[in-house]
Amino acid sequence: AKQQGNNGWVRFQPETGAAELRRQQLREDLRHALERGECELHYQPQFSLPERRLVGVEALLRWRHPQLGTISPAEFIPLAEEGPLILELGAWALREACCQAQTWNFGERKLLMSVNVSVRQFERPDFVPQVEAALAACGLPGGCLILELTETLLHQEAQVGAQTFNELHRLGVHIAIDDFGTGYSNIQLLRHLPFRQLKIDRSFVQDLADGAAGLASAQHFMKVMLNLAHGLGINVVAEGVETQAQFDLLTQLGCDKAQGFLLSPPLPAGELASTFL
Ligand code: C2E
Ligand code: CA
Ligand code: CA
Ligand code: CA
Repeated sequence: AKQQGNNGWVRFQPETGAAELRRQQLREDLRHALERGECELHYQPQFSLPERRLVGVEALLRWRHPQLGTISPAEFIPLAEEGPLILELGAWALREACCQAQTWNFGERKLLMSVNVSVRQFERPDFVPQVEAALAACGLPGGCLILELTETLLHQEAQVGAQTFNELHRLGVHIAIDDFGTGYSNIQLLRHLPFRQLKIDRSFVQDLADGAAGLASAQHFMKVMLNLAHGLGINVVAEGVETQAQFDLLTQLGCDKAQGFLLSPPLPAGELASTFL
């Protein structure tokens, strides 16, 4: 973009380029997205290995922008996290996902609803009461809910973590480490916090069967992560499974669950239900 210089010359300002302008617009519009009903959750199914039985779904936020079309959460979540908006969005997603799970009878079907949680939510003193309220609002058993936290988050919050974990545990709510292997891996985390599930980042899954150099080490690495998790009684989800070769290798290596485009993309609630429930 261009800006008036102090003597009338128009000067180029690289920091206010197209990308920054888009961010500014999204930041502004995001403030009204919830109240305008532009947000919704899509649900991506997760399947057990090797049976390929449905075991749960992950709720993923979608924003239908009236002019710009669907905006990826990879783009708008970081903007929301700059301020208090992430708390509102997060609380909405949590409640919406819990109620959807209850509508779908997840308790009786023994299915799990996974919800992504930002550090900004998790660090709030009222986070646990909020989870409790979301469960109570629709009568969903705590045991149907898994909160997905990223590894990076947990590093910064290890102290706060322990108590929050215990309180969530009392509600029966499970906790998964998301994107495992992409942060600064810290085995202490696994030692000190009671995780139920670990999600292996799709970058590892991609390398598994790509036939390029390092294939053996990707498989070896996966095996080590599986052994570590299983030794601690933690089950493992591979995310971003896109090919049958990846699926077969994961099955062979003893991975517990798989999620990815090979099995299904994230779907609107109605479509998820008509296809899988
Ligand atoms: P994530 O939690 O790691 O979610 C997995 C992402 O991978 C999703 O992207 C999903 O659509 C995509 N995906 C699933 N299967 C495949 C596959 O086979 N191949 C590839 N290439 N991608 C696959 P999505 O929906 O765009 O979400 C991006 C990120 O935004 C999520 O990453 C999560 O970190 C964040 N996010 C989404 N919803 C929420 C939310 O409600 N709250 C918070 N705090 N973050 C959210
Ligand atoms: Ca996730
Ligand atoms: Ca992930
Ligand atoms: Ca991710």
